[in-house]
Order: sequence, then structure tokens, then C-alpha cells
Amino acid sequence: MKRLKKKFLIGALLLLTSGFLVCIEGCAGEVLAQTASGVAMGTYVNQTIYTRDEALTGEVEELLLHLEEDMLSWRIAGSEIARINEAAGEECSISDELKQDLISLLEVSERSNGAFDCTLGTLIRLWNMDAWSRAEEEGFIPPTKEEITEALIDAGYDKIKITGDTIYLPSGIQLDLGAAGKGIACDRVAAFLAGKQVSGAVISVGGSVVTYGAKPDGSPWRVAVVDPLNPSSRLGILTLSGEWYISTSGGYERFVEADGIRYHHILDPATGYPADSGLAGVTIICHSGLLSDALSTACFVLGVEDGLALAESYGAQALFVTTDGQLYMTSGMEELFSSTSKP
Ligand code: FAD
Ligand code: MG
Repeated sequence: MKRLKKKFLIGALLLLTSGFLVCIEGCAGEVLAQTASGVAMGTYVNQTIYTRDEALTGEVEELLLHLEEDMLSWRIAGSEIARINEAAGEECSISDELKQDLISLLEVSERSNGAFDCTLGTLIRLWNMDAWSRAEEEGFIPPTKEEITEALIDAGYDKIKITGDTIYLPSGIQLDLGAAGKGIACDRVAAFLAGKQVSGAVISVGGSVVTYGAKPDGSPWRVAVVDPLNPSSRLGILTLSGEWYISTSGGYERFVEADGIRYHHILDPATGYPADSGLAGVTIICHSGLLSDALSTACFVLGVEDGLALAESYGAQALFVTTDGQLYMTSGMEELFSSTSKP
């Protein structure tokens, strides 16, 4: 673990790759960097795929759309998650794909002592996060302590039962995969690309990024970490080779203000209030998108000490930025991260 004294800020992840349809000479002709930008899962999607297949970026967009609409969205009626939420109080069928994801997420919940909990749907609705972007016009009144206590009764990853191909949520419990869905999306994109003629790719779905294969010139992927204390600046660069999944969680990404108090979107399931662990942001790198996303949220709630222990227990690399601008990281992260302020 390294402690840097300098004051740093945090932010989201920015891809350094850019440009449109960059032509690169390959050994058997031209390999094109196909690039595309779009929106999915309420966030921006940026793609750079090294391939001769010009249709691929469109196919990735479609894959993300289907993943959101058919499986992961708790907002879209008819998706698998919405169907399971609707059936709370009764057993409901579950696909093998979603079942495997939920089992992995429940393990993160257990190993983080509940800091990560994908059953916070009722609490998240109470905080009315969907309306935060309209708060300037419509105003925002935070929930009362009593309301929060009540909503927490309707939460608890340990209340979910998965048996065979069915899942049971007690009445009142609602799944919300906001903290892991974009990482799961990165997993699905990489699996999709593995079946295609692709030499390399870097794709970001909001704060989750996947690097895949290699660039035609063999140079490493460079992914910027935004400064969470000043999201318009870069905190540093991650230099990565091959397939990696990178996720960032930060209180700056979605928040609302009322009576001079700022409330952000990462809730501590122990209190029902925005996590207050002294962190401005956490970046996780590992070999699974689901884990990088779930762990970044869990670590943000846990704080530096417990967060580092959790990340290390998964063999993941972690970078923490505290609200007073200090950096802490796993030893593996020290090799991958270079601060932009280093001489
Ligand atoms: P993360 O730290 O990865 O996750 C924070 C989010 O997870 C919170 O917003 C909350 O939803 C949930 N959460 C909070 N605390 C915890 C906790 N302790 N444990 C577990 N989960 C927690 N946004 C829109 O504005 N419109 C949309 O239509 C929309 N659709 C989406 C569909 C899907 C399938 C997904 C995955 C996301 C969608 N989003 C949408 C974005 C979503 O609402 C969140 O803003 C976003 O996922 C937060 O991601 P993050 O990486 O910033 O933070
Ligand atoms: Mg997350």
C-alpha cells in the first residue's frame, strides 16, 4: 500500500484512445480502428475496436441494448430483473446466465459484510435517485430517518433464495443492479468479441472499461483515471496489456443537494445514507467486469482499510482517493498506475 502526500482529485475513467476510423497497416491488409459513441444503461458508451468488420460496433451497441432491456434493467418492464422484482413474495424462474451473475454478486455481499448489496431497490427508490437530475427545477427533499429505517427492512442480500432455476425474493425486496450492471456488460462484450475477428478493443460503459487483446502496434492500453475531487482533470494513467476490467465508483458521479448538504448515490446498507467512509473515489482492476464493478462499490462503502483487504482477497488491484486527496493503492496497482503529477 502506498500513501502519496500530494493532494489529488478523483474522477471517472476516460479512455485515451480516440479518433475516428483510424487506418493501421496490418500484415494481411488494413486493420481499422472502428470507433463509436453512444448511450446505454443511462450512461455513455465509447468503443474502439481493431477489426476489419465495420458492423461490429453496431453489434456491440445492440448487445448492450438487449442486455439492458431483456435482463438487467429494473426500470424496463419485461426485463428479467423487473420480472423477478414484480414476483417478489413468490418464486420466479431465473435464467442460468443471470443466476451465475447473482451468485457471484451475493458472494461479494457476503465477503464485504453487506457493504455491497444488490437488494437495495426499495431504499434507492426512496432516495428517488431517478429524479436527481431534475432536482434543480423540482427540488429535492431527503427521506426521513423513519422512512430509511423502514426501507432497510425491505433489503438484505441474505434474504434471497436461489434454488435450481428459481429465485425467491421476500415481498418488499427489490433488486437493483446499478452497482454491477455496467461491469457485467463489459464481461458480455468481451465474450462477444472473443467469437469475432478482433485483434484488440477498448470499450467503456460509463465508469466500467474493458481492454481486450492488443493494439496493432503492440503498445499497451492507456486508460485515464479521472480525479474524483476535480472530475474535469485526470488523476493519472493506467497502463495495461491484454484483457482487463476497470471500474470506478465515486460520490461525484451522481449526487443531489438539499439545504446545502450534498447526497451522493452510493449508499451504506448499514445506515441507509450515502456512504461516508472518507473516500472520494475507488478504482478497481481485475479479470472480471462484474467483480471490478461490484468491488469498486463495496470498497467505496468500506473505506481504505477494509476495502484494501477485500480487493486483495479477490486478487484485484485497487486505488483509493480520500476526500482529503490522499492516494492509497495495492502494490500491483503501483505498477499499473502513474500519476499525471509525477515529474
Ligand atoms: P456504482 O458505485 O457502480 O453503483 C452505484 C449504484 O448502485 C447506485 O446508483 C445505486 O443504483 C446502486 N447502489 C447504491 N449503493 C449500493 C450498495 N451499497 N450496494 C449495491 N448497489 C448500490 N441511469 C439513468 O439515469 N437512466 C437509466 O435508464 C438507467 N438505466 C440503467 C440500466 C442498467 C441495466 C444499469 C446497470 C444502469 C442504469 N442506469 C441508468 C445507471 C444507474 O442508475 C446508476 O447511476 C449507475 O449504475 C451508477 O453506476 P456507477 O458506476 O456510477 O456507481
Ligand atoms: Mg460498481
